[in-house]
Amino acid sequence: MEVSIRCNHVHYTYHTLQGETPALCDIHFQVNEGEFVSIVGPSGCGKSTLLSLLCGLLTPESGTVEFKGEPVCEKNRRQIGYMLQHDHLFEWRSVRKNILLGLEIQKKISDETLQEADHLLKLYGLYRFKDARPSQLSGGMRQRAALIRTLLLHPDLLLLDEPFSALDYQTRLKVSDDIGSIIRKSKKTAILVTHDLSEAVSLGDRVIVLTPLPAGIKAIVSTDFPKELSPFERRNTDVFKTYFNQIWKELNPDE
Ligand code: ADP
Ligand code: MG
Repeated sequence: MEVSIRCNHVHYTYHTLQGETPALCDIHFQVNEGEFVSIVGPSGCGKSTLLSLLCGLLTPESGTVEFKGEPVCEKNRRQIGYMLQHDHLFEWRSVRKNILLGLEIQKKISDETLQEADHLLKLYGLYRFKDARPSQLSGGMRQRAALIRTLLLHPDLLLLDEPFSALDYQTRLKVSDDIGSIIRKSKKTAILVTHDLSEAVSLGDRVIVLTPLPAGIKAIVSTDFPKELSPFERRNTDVFKTYFNQIWKELNPDE
């Protein structure tokens, strides 16, 4: 299997006027193409820092990050899509104009990409709302719009930083099921950061458990669910509880 991204013994420290915050300590793992990996860890442990290193926004203090065998650089980081917790849709642009923003910036607007944009809007049930403003959409619809905007750039690797945490519980279940299925069907490689264990287990082929700050790797748990189950259906299996409890214990060793 081809390796998508590899983190080689990465360390990272924030240096500020107030002092130094070691954020990552000896992070070492790889993600293969087509794999969906979840990363969980306590709040403030260094999860967002790790994603920023994976996509080249930050540079490791020591260690290396390689994307398809090459160091992450200006050239290859275009193949990495980053979807944040907040959807960053602009209210002064229609939904359609919002999802075209990335293409516009990369000067990739063409008949072909416009057609694809409309195709995805239809596929994900947003076409009726293409001329609406973001505030007219539900939380789940906004998240889908943000995903379409990212997918239109055809990233080979998708990094998702707590993309569902602004949603209420019901919506969150539905949207994570939805978006997890979309990513699987499009056979993308994805890394999802979350502090929600159920979300991590229901979506991930593997779950990487981080320690409190500075983040190190506490454990890596592989999940094995029947292929045909959706993320939501995985939650109703017996093995789901086993994985959940195993990861819970890794995160809460004193209980
Ligand atoms: P998480 O995403 O797991 O909540 P972060 O990666 O955002 O954690 O942050 C990890 C630690 O690094 C936190 O203690 C945070 O205060 C610190 N940190 C994050 N960003 C900066 C920054 N730009 N400058 C200094 N410290 C930072
Ligand atoms: Mg974060």
